[in-house]
Amino acid sequence: MTDIKRRKFVSMMTAGAAVIPVSALVASLPSRADDMPAVDPESAQAQALQYVSESENPEQNCLNCTLYTGAEGEDMGGCPLFPGNAVMAAGWCSAYVPKA
Ligand code: SF4
Repeated sequence: MTDIKRRKFVSMMTAGAAVIPVSALVASLPSRADDMPAVDPESAQAQALQYVSESENPEQNCLNCTLYTGAEGEDMGGCPLFPGNAVMAAGWCSAYVPKA
């Protein structure tokens, strides 16, 4: 095996090793918000992000935030800032980013 082929092989193996844990993590995540417990507004993460389960601003809530992964019509959905938990569609946090 030439040096170039060996380097390419090692590079591909390293990339593959990095992808496997991420795919395993995604596969282990609950598929629906129903499967996830709601974020506890008193948790350290929620407190750090000033998360509230009901937004005080009617124009800003999780449902119209770019990071929200819940389905339209559902009361709760996922948010990457709270892995393993569901945020309320009516909720809000300081990381809010309006959908384009
Ligand atoms: S980033 Fe904040 S506002 Fe946006 S969906 Fe997540 S918790 Fe809601």
